[in-house]
Formats: sequence, C-alpha cells, structure tokens
Amino acid sequence: MAIVDFIFISVALLSGAQSIRMPSVISDAPKLLLLSFDGFRYDYLDRPLLKPNFDFAINKGVRAKYMKSTFATKTDPNHMTMVTGLWEESHGVVSNKMYDPKYREIFWMNSSDPKWWDGDGKVEPIWITNERKEGRYSGVVNWPGGDVKYGGRLPTYSTGPYNRSIPYTDRIDAMVRWFLDDEKPMNLGLLFFEEPDRSGHLYGPDSAQVNDAIMMIDDTVGYLVSALKEADIYDKVNIILTSDHGMVEVSPTRVIELNRYIKPEWYIWVDDSPVSAILPKRGKEEQIYKKLRSAHVRMKVFKKKDIPKQWHYRNNRRIMPIIAVADDGWSIVQNFTQNTFTIKGNHGYNNSIIKMSALFIAFGPAFEEGLTSKPFSNVDLYPLMCKILDFEPRPNNGSLETVKHILFDYDSMASKGTGIAVFCTLLLVVALMAGGYYAWQRHYGHKEEPIVGEYVNLDETNPQQGGGGGVPYEQQEQHLNLKNQTKASYGQEHGYGGTQ
Ligand SMILES: [Zn+2]
Repeated sequence: MAIVDFIFISVALLSGAQSIRMPSVISDAPKLLLLSFDGFRYDYLDRPLLKPNFDFAINKGVRAKYMKSTFATKTDPNHMTMVTGLWEESHGVVSNKMYDPKYREIFWMNSSDPKWWDGDGKVEPIWITNERKEGRYSGVVNWPGGDVKYGGRLPTYSTGPYNRSIPYTDRIDAMVRWFLDDEKPMNLGLLFFEEPDRSGHLYGPDSAQVNDAIMMIDDTVGYLVSALKEADIYDKVNIILTSDHGMVEVSPTRVIELNRYIKPEWYIWVDDSPVSAILPKRGKEEQIYKKLRSAHVRMKVFKKKDIPKQWHYRNNRRIMPIIAVADDGWSIVQNFTQNTFTIKGNHGYNNSIIKMSALFIAFGPAFEEGLTSKPFSNVDLYPLMCKILDFEPRPNNGSLETVKHILFDYDSMASKGTGIAVFCTLLLVVALMAGGYYAWQRHYGHKEEPIVGEYVNLDETNPQQGGGGGVPYEQQEQHLNLKNQTKASYGQEHGYGGTQ
C-alpha cells in the first residue's frame, strides 16, 4: 500500500514538474475555456453578495452590461447559438421541445441523435471546427448537444452523455487534466453548469436559494482560477463566464388557459410556455388563430409568416404554424390546476425583455482589463471565439464588429505581418469579405435582413415557410407520436424527477 502510494505520488510529482518545466506539454494554440452557468441573469452579480472570485474576474477582464439571448430564450437553443453564431431558425434547435414535420417526431431535451442538432448536416459547433486545425483538441463537459456527432465527429475529450451528477469541481479538474495531456493537449474547453437555473425555476429569481447558488458558483470560479494557477497555465488561458438566458418570476395568478378559447382536439400542443407552439389539426389553423388572436391581453399570437422578423424565428420547418407568446411573467397552460403549477421562475420570453439577458465576463491574455462593455448579442460570441482561436468562422449571423473592442490589442491580432504586407493582406481580406458576403446574401440571404451581421438561412428546403419534408402539416397529425404530448413538469423536463 505504501509502495503504491509512493509510486502514485512520484508519478504525480513528475508529471507536475514536467508541465512546469516543458511549455511544449501544453498546446501552442490559443487556449479558451467557455463556461455557461444556466439561467445566470445578467444582473445577479449586482446583488450585495459575497462574490470575491467574480470581483477578481471582472477586475482582471471585461464585463458586458449584458449579453442578449436569442429568441426563444430557452436552454438548448441558446447553447447552440453560442457555439455556432446562428439564430435558432438557422441552426434548427428552436426549443427544448419541438416537432419536426420531416421526421414526424418530437424532440426532448438531451437527445443525442444528431438529426436534431446538426441542421441536416450543415451545422458544426466550434469544438469540432477547432479540431480541424492541426494539433488542436477540444473538450466538452455537459454542454447541450455536446455528446452529439457532427459529421460523424465527437470532440477528443468529453465526459460522455449529459450527467448532472458530476460535481462542479470534477468538471474543472477534467478540463485541467485535458489541458496538460502530453499527447493531445486541449486548447478549447466548454463546460455547462445547471445552476442557478435550477434554483431560479424552483424558488424564483429573487429567492435566497438563487443567492446561495450565485455564491456557490463564485466558489466554482475561484476553484477554476486556483486549479489553473496550480497547473501553471492560468496566464495562458482565456476564460469566458456566461449563460444562456435570464429568469423572471412566474405565478399561478398570471396564467392563460388555452382550452378556455380553443378545443383540445383541434391542435397538438408541441411546446408549452411562455412560447406555445401549436400544431393545428386538419383545417383548424384559421379557426384557432381567430379564437386566440384577441383571447388574452397578455398573450400575443402569430401565424408563422407573421412572427416578428427581429426574432429570427420563422424560417425553419420546426417552427409551428401558430405560436402564442406570453408577456413577461405570464404562463400559458392548457388547463390550470393549482397543484401542477409548481415553478416560481421561468424563461423563454421575448429576448427584448432585459431580464431574459445573460451574464458575460471574460478575462485572460486576449481580453482588455477592467473594461465594462456595452451589451451585445450571443450570436456575436461565436465570431469572437473564432478570432481568439485564430481560425475562420463558419457562415454565421454574428458580428465581430460589436465585440472586437473587448479584445486586447485587436489590431495586432488581426494581422501578423508588417508594412505593405499588412496593407495588401487587409485589402485582400476586405475584397474577399465583400465578395463572400455578397455570395452569401445571394445564396442564403433575405433582402429585408439583417439588423447586425450577415443573415444565414441554412434551411434551404423551403426558406419562406420551412420545409415539411414535402408533406403538409395537416396530413401529418396521424403519424405523430401522441404519447409525447403528456405535459411534463419542469422537473421532468430537466431531469430533476419532480422531487422539488
Ligand atoms: Zn437554460
């Protein structure tokens, strides 16, 4: 036993010493960690709580006033947006629950089937693109869609299918271990954490439990910085602390019951609240729309073609013919019963509601120090990360222009040559970008788009309405697996087993 211990300690010391002595042990490529704390609202850090490690990160780096989430402000869609720079209609993960008329199936959170995530083969998250460069390796822990094969590929490092029981410190330990791997040193790591979303749903955003979760996450940030320092790589790693969306309080006194206005046999309720996705049965679309349109002052109802274009939530076959969107803090149900309404917080609302906005803090060698940035959108995170990692982004809806000011010495990152070479390169880049932009616009673009960045529509089957695999919606109802209609409580949806 003593000998085994001795050998173990010796190996540990040796490998530790090696990582300090030989810089070649860690990757030469730019290094980036992206941490997402689910449902961490942008202003949680303004509460008078003890949070020394967040304070440290903010002082060392950049804090954006907020990062705007993408409509609909749900978990899986926004995590895909962050790693692709695509609006939800473009990457195709349009909710945590959705119906695909081509597959005639309903999607549930945490499905690992690529067909739900890879945009018919056109979507590739940043951790795969990173590995297309020589000598680069990515690691993913619990990121939504992280255990899915894209083009048949998985990241080099992963903790496997989503597993919420992995302790937060173990998730960080895995990342440090992968950074220090002798053979395949990781340069890009993505981590997902369930809090404070869980406490926000169960107890409400203003609860003591959410405050406790914020302080627990602060400890996690402290643990990360210590672990990187101990491994002697802290100075070399860029760290982004962010989240997918915010949270607002909901109440059983602010509920809209669909079945007061429409008959349940008229439609399939694909997604619940606050964006209800309604699949009308044969010939019922117009009737449902007319009944719901002015049913409740706190609910906006849209036919698919009339969904506001600033939501970029129209051109995908998984967006249903009618959506009903509840106002801030309101909930849509089919039938209200007191004991099924158990949550105290929710998200998913209009992304212009500021309380749906996310946290953004970044620190490390690539970032400015002590900067408070104006807000930006989470589609811009992707081109920012590609810039730091020094590779060409795939076609996306984001804009580097809105975020480049947070980078330290952006200009020298932009061009590595000098004098006339720089000028010629820039000229070439501008020409290529202009040409590329024009080509993308012609190929994918919509004339009325966009507000910022390029507009990319990856669903070419039917860019106006989203395809239906050639089969009209109303002919599909009989093929739909109706057992999936059963309303899940929040706990079931997130795998908490409804224990709270
Ligand atoms: Zn979330």
